[in-house]
Amino acid sequence: MPQLLPVPNPIVSHWLSEPHRLRDFRSTPELPSECDIIIIGSGMAGITTAYFLLHENPNPPNIVLLEARELCTGATGRNGGHSKVLLSTISRVVKDHGPGIATELQTMVQKINDTFKQIINEEKLDCEFELRRSHDVQLETPESEQLKQMYDEGCKAGHEWTKDVSWIGPEHVEQVTSIKGAKSAFSVPACSLWPYKFVSQLLSRLLERHPDHLNFQTNTPVTSVDLQVDTSSVVTTPRGTIKTQKVIFATNAYTSGLLPQFQDIIYPVRGMASHLVPKTPVRPHLSNTYNIDYGSAKGVDYLNPRPDGSIVVGGAKWTFPDRETWYKNSDDSKPFPSEVQSYWDGYMQRVFHGWENSGAFTERVWPGIQGYTPDSWPHVGRVPGTKSQWMLAGFNGGGNTMILKSAETVAKMIREDKEFGDVAREVGVLTLFGTSKERMRKKIEETLPRVDGDISIRVKYTEWDTNTQHVKH
Ligand SMILES: Cc1cc2nc3c(=O)[nH]c(=O)nc-3n(C[C@H](O)[C@H](O)[C@H](O)COP(=O)(O)OP(=O)(O)OC[C@H]3O[C@@H](n4cnc5c(N)ncnc54)[C@H](O)[C@@H]3O)c2cc1C
Repeated sequence: MPQLLPVPNPIVSHWLSEPHRLRDFRSTPELPSECDIIIIGSGMAGITTAYFLLHENPNPPNIVLLEARELCTGATGRNGGHSKVLLSTISRVVKDHGPGIATELQTMVQKINDTFKQIINEEKLDCEFELRRSHDVQLETPESEQLKQMYDEGCKAGHEWTKDVSWIGPEHVEQVTSIKGAKSAFSVPACSLWPYKFVSQLLSRLLERHPDHLNFQTNTPVTSVDLQVDTSSVVTTPRGTIKTQKVIFATNAYTSGLLPQFQDIIYPVRGMASHLVPKTPVRPHLSNTYNIDYGSAKGVDYLNPRPDGSIVVGGAKWTFPDRETWYKNSDDSKPFPSEVQSYWDGYMQRVFHGWENSGAFTERVWPGIQGYTPDSWPHVGRVPGTKSQWMLAGFNGGGNTMILKSAETVAKMIREDKEFGDVAREVGVLTLFGTSKERMRKKIEETLPRVDGDISIRVKYTEWDTNTQHVKH
């Protein structure tokens, strides 16, 4: 099997259509031979980890940031651009872990949205950031009834996660959400942004502020990371090797290409998103973001109205012709078949009241590669079995809502030489994110993601092979 690496020439998403001047930047023509920390990956995870490592640090480490392709051309450069918790995710968490963890999840996401705002303000980043609400809309009665029951029970019991969530019933839901045929909806807190602009401008600030401590190298795929007996690592690329004291894997879907023990534990899932543009902006403006649930036989679309009146919307997984087109598929250089992409043609006219005469057309459609995990949570912390390697990867369909606290956690672990359990509560990251051999031992019988960001799971325990450091198949 060929090594899992980002493929060359990915399709350009709407977000990447305004390339940043750092897109193919290299701080130095040659790679440094040594450094303190190597971060692999220039998506939101890699850049925000660099930020938290360097921020207000009187003794900044020497960091080399390596990116296989151009800056931020992975999932961060191709996603829906909103940050929120789906009610269906809360429902799953309540069922599996109890209402307290659901509240912790919602609190974490709220803190992440606050942190976005704080960094954007402090660093003066121009990335269309907006604090807003989001509608989770149900188009089928069973999903609507199940979620309502869970919400009612939570409200009655006074569970904290219900406090900033409101329900919109069948009588008014079409009027309130503008979605044709809606059965019900929930209103939840959210924020939206242009993720590529956030990442590229933040990197630009870091390079200006720390020219001697941050070295960025695009088009430099890491092909192996070899631990040495003295706990340093040698990182190999086609342009040479670098010796480093510490390595951080911010490689999301591609993590098992360098850490093969994560095969089947973090794996690529190909998604699709699009940019729809009305002939003239429709007024009043859609001010909420959306998740539109078409029922268990189909799935959920996610939709982000942009400030210029255009729409970024993705999902439509049920239109993918076969499993090979998306499951463990990491090719974002090829489009989905035209009959799949045509799902977006006339979408706004079909789905939203008031858009029938908008003339909205499909400006572009693009694929993107998500890193899925069997239990749907990312793996954050020290790479199990190592002393000097860390990871934050496997963000499923919700990296915007999970990365900032994961990055802060990894940076704090490194800066203060602590373990995940020592810092998780203080940072406010969900303890479920902690990576461990025990968690890796849990293996999925069948993982079929129903929707982006939410999967139905059945976990069984399998044996751990101590020789290969892999789950036994
Ligand atoms: C179509 C789509 C829609 C989405 N919508 C949303 C949404 O609306 N809200 C939300 O919260 N989340 C959404 N997501 C998920 C979100 O985009 C991801 O969870 C998040 O961007 C992951 O960030 P990351 O930095 O971990 O990964 P990435 O952005 O993928 O970055 C990883 C980087 O590592 C690099 N890399 C990998 N391997 C190597 C190597 N060996 N050597 C060097 N570099 C390497 C890659 O090239 C890449 O640049 C969506 C994802 C997709 C694909």
